[in-house]
Amino acid sequence: MTNESQFSVKAEPPPPALGPPPKRAPAPPGVTFDVQGLKVWFAAHQVLFDVSLQIPPKAVTAIIGPSGCGKSTFLRSLNRMHDLAPGARVEGRITLFGEDLYARQVDPTLVRRRVGMVFQKSNPFPTMSIADNVIVGLKLNGVRQKSLLRERLEQTLRMAALWDEVKDRLHAHALSLSGGQQQRLCIARALAIEPEVLLMDEPASALDPLATAKIEELILELRKQFTIVIVTHNMQQASRVSDFTAFFYLGRLVEVDQTKKLFTNPKDKQTEDYVTGRFG
Ligand code: ADP
Ligand code: MG
Repeated sequence: MTNESQFSVKAEPPPPALGPPPKRAPAPPGVTFDVQGLKVWFAAHQVLFDVSLQIPPKAVTAIIGPSGCGKSTFLRSLNRMHDLAPGARVEGRITLFGEDLYARQVDPTLVRRRVGMVFQKSNPFPTMSIADNVIVGLKLNGVRQKSLLRERLEQTLRMAALWDEVKDRLHAHALSLSGGQQQRLCIARALAIEPEVLLMDEPASALDPLATAKIEELILELRKQFTIVIVTHNMQQASRVSDFTAFFYLGRLVEVDQTKKLFTNPKDKQTEDYVTGRFG
């Protein structure tokens, strides 16, 4: 870890001159997440088995697979959400731009600042206005300057394709928005603290087709700036929005490839059976 590390909260002791050789090759430059040998348990129940996967930058990677196969569990290991779940245990190695996310000196709240997350059910803070929902993270991070907050508010709502719909009622209750607008508000809230990565766990599964289309358009727009990892149980959605798709089954990564290839010419029989609708 270098001095520039954004993670370090205390100085790390210097590495031994001749440490053991690294177990696996480092991620090639340009990889956002390098996941190696990831295993996750909830108490005695193992949910992920030896998952190794590289997530490329400024692209959308979709995680697909039947319900219960570990998609959300995988996503949550990318920003250390499992630290908050009692009984969860994570093994393996995950680096973000080369830095070990699970190293002892890494502060998980800093990880979650760099790796933002949007959930299936939109969850705006119910007692707050639209504006406050967006800037709450900045305020918690000590930004006080009104002009800066105002500027970030507009900028982020524009990025989330919500500005035009709410600019005249920024101080209205967040819950006065439609379901689709609330989900875009949550995306704006995640973007406000300038993450490097956006994780989305079935962000449109509770929305009607029109609101879903808006979220998908937004994902394609945000891809230009961010690495996005999206869990979806909707294969059409995966093929519309993603560049790469990873198919999970029973806690294992079965296959990962360019989305088009995975859907039209899968290498694995299980993938083929799943994408052709033989099980699900
Ligand atoms: P998916 O998102 O693919 O539907 P999940 O990752 O949510 O699957 O769940 C995979 C398995 O892990 C399921 O058996 C689920 O019950 C279990 N699981 C997920 N989260 C927890 C948790 N916090 N505590 C205990 N078990 C969990
Ligand atoms: Mg899930």
